[in-house]
Amino acid sequence: MTQFNDLGLAESILQALTAEGYSTPTPIQQQVIPVMLAGRDVVGIAQTGTGKTAAFVLPLLNEITNRKSRAAHKSCNTLILAPTRELAAQIAESVRTYGRFMRHSVAVVVGGVRPGPQIRMMASGVDILVATPGRLLDHISTGAIRLESTTTVILDEADQMMDLGFMPAIRKIMAKVPHTRRTLLFSATMPKPIRALADDFLHDAVEIAVSPESLPIDRIEQRVLQVEKSAKRAALVNILKESDVERAIVFTRTKHGADKVRIHLEKAGLPADAIHGNKSQGQRERALANFKAGKIRILVATDIAARGIDVDGISHVINFELPNVPEAYVHRIGRTARAGKSGVAISLCDSEERGLLRDIERLIKRTIGENGTTDYVETRQSRGNGSEGQRQPGRSKGRPQNRSGQRGKPRTGHPEQRSDSRGPAKPAHQPRPANDSRPAHRPEKKRDFRQGDEAASDGLARMLGNFDGGRKRPQKPGGPSTGHRPKNRVGAR
Ligand code: AMP
Repeated sequence: MTQFNDLGLAESILQALTAEGYSTPTPIQQQVIPVMLAGRDVVGIAQTGTGKTAAFVLPLLNEITNRKSRAAHKSCNTLILAPTRELAAQIAESVRTYGRFMRHSVAVVVGGVRPGPQIRMMASGVDILVATPGRLLDHISTGAIRLESTTTVILDEADQMMDLGFMPAIRKIMAKVPHTRRTLLFSATMPKPIRALADDFLHDAVEIAVSPESLPIDRIEQRVLQVEKSAKRAALVNILKESDVERAIVFTRTKHGADKVRIHLEKAGLPADAIHGNKSQGQRERALANFKAGKIRILVATDIAARGIDVDGISHVINFELPNVPEAYVHRIGRTARAGKSGVAISLCDSEERGLLRDIERLIKRTIGENGTTDYVETRQSRGNGSEGQRQPGRSKGRPQNRSGQRGKPRTGHPEQRSDSRGPAKPAHQPRPANDSRPAHRPEKKRDFRQGDEAASDGLARMLGNFDGGRKRPQKPGGPSTGHRPKNRVGAR
């Protein structure tokens, strides 16, 4: 089995990995690290929780150990773009952890906090800049940072950046980076707009997808409670009081809903904090820090916290409301059962949400009942068609990746997850009522955003140009960038 020692990483990095207790690279690390060390572009299809941050951070640090010169003033050698402030902070934390025995500089540039300290950090130049797109564009427009000497760009969680409406900002940013750069794009799913982004910005990239086994989904006991909307709060309090809850995240669909649930829990004697897009950055950081430190046991969150957030020991994920986008369910429940542990995911489903539940079940290829999940039998729609490993993008017509980020045959699941009372595994297809006009399989990600949906409302506001902590972004002098489509770079694809 490949060990970190075999990958040609510098001694100082190996030392940090040993200190973390990591000796064996995860599958995505095994594949990405050599390709990055060889200087190639990468399209990585991987969820958080697969070890993908270290997969790109370790080779970046390795390059810094070999580099003689520092970054020039007001510039960065590597730019990492992330969709949320929390994820940006977490990536920078990984850089510090894995780079603790070597000299390097990392800065975080995100919205919601004063720009002054960020400007000062960037003034002397940084090796690695981790940024959310909106605030970075602000700094570019004021000249606080230039990207002319940036040699590597990494787009992390590209599909979430798309969901949040960051695509125009990303195109503007990429237009500022030299064509000769190396580009890496990581995404949990590969819908058409992300594929187009990859085609426009990557050069002769190696495509790497990790197997579904790295998803913790098999270790999660998933349950659905059918309750009416009016009974949800009482049901939530019951679960949190009666179950063996060590640490729980409760997901709501809207920011307002998150606040209301938090207040209700407090009144019921269950101290909780809330994290969502209307909270100041300070509040968000405090809530997360208290949750991580175990000072609060319950965090109520919108989907802003569904991805990337890596907190140990979350025993329960509770979906107070089901997400409108089925993929978000997988991200939400992936907050539990991390680092080899098991976890419980309980979804409260009212009569209006049954369609959303069916979408989720189709995606995860299991039915979820009150007593747990039941395996689907493979259907034509649910069948993957490929094998795992590296491919050149565009060379294979069929994409082994299915919409859940899972590949190949659905797993058979654990027999103990089946409820005895429910009998043997059910077929994939729930018989559909004759008047059900929804398509059996949604070929492309359909966004069914309801009013007040956090991702949708922020994304829409961003596209209208009036989102960034409620500020209207200043128009750049000379109007919006025309962007570039480096068609000449498509080359060998
Ligand atoms: P990520 O997918 O980057 O969010 O990483 C998920 C978790 O896996 C983080 O807590 C990492 O610290 C941890 N991790 C990363 N690489 C390894 C490894 N090689 N062995 C064990 N754990 C790891």
